[in-house]
Amino acid sequence: MNYGEIKYCDIANGNGVRVSLFVSGCSHHCKDCFNPETWDYNYGKPFTKDTWEEIFNGTKSFVNGLTLLGGDPCEPDNQRALLPFLKEYKRRFPTKDIWCYTGYTYEQMIGESRANIECTDEFLSLIDYLVDGPFVAELKNIGLIFRGSSNQRIIDMKQTLSQNEIIQWEGIKRDRT
Ligand code: SF4
Repeated sequence: MNYGEIKYCDIANGNGVRVSLFVSGCSHHCKDCFNPETWDYNYGKPFTKDTWEEIFNGTKSFVNGLTLLGGDPCEPDNQRALLPFLKEYKRRFPTKDIWCYTGYTYEQMIGESRANIECTDEFLSLIDYLVDGPFVAELKNIGLIFRGSSNQRIIDMKQTLSQNEIIQWEGIKRDRT
């Protein structure tokens, strides 16, 4: 897997101050995508163990957690590449949360789709909040917190998995729509 950028003090992509990893590769090609250069799986630099360490070292005590975006972290090869990294992140930072943006819907991730692969259940178990669905330009709304269009949800994965129904993040009440 390649990645394009890491932001170490991001307040736009998830709750609080975040370290954000922009991975490469996305098959959705949404109209008016904010980051089309990351559609190419070969964009940017290889995501290596040295990159892991850079992220761990950049995760200061005031950081609330890690955000995965891109590109799409849930493309099959990206899930495979991110899984061992996420396990190590959770081991080192058990109190910090992980947000993940994907152009797939949650239903696609757990149902019949190319995004549901051999490691998806484990991958999703490591995510705290999944911002799901493609960006739909016609549904763009700048009053939405942490997402671009009104079809996208911020799914509380721990609650969703424990209650077996989709529960959204309570902070979504801060939408200004
Ligand atoms: S899923 Fe995200 S990165 Fe991919 S095309 Fe849509 S907006 Fe762009």
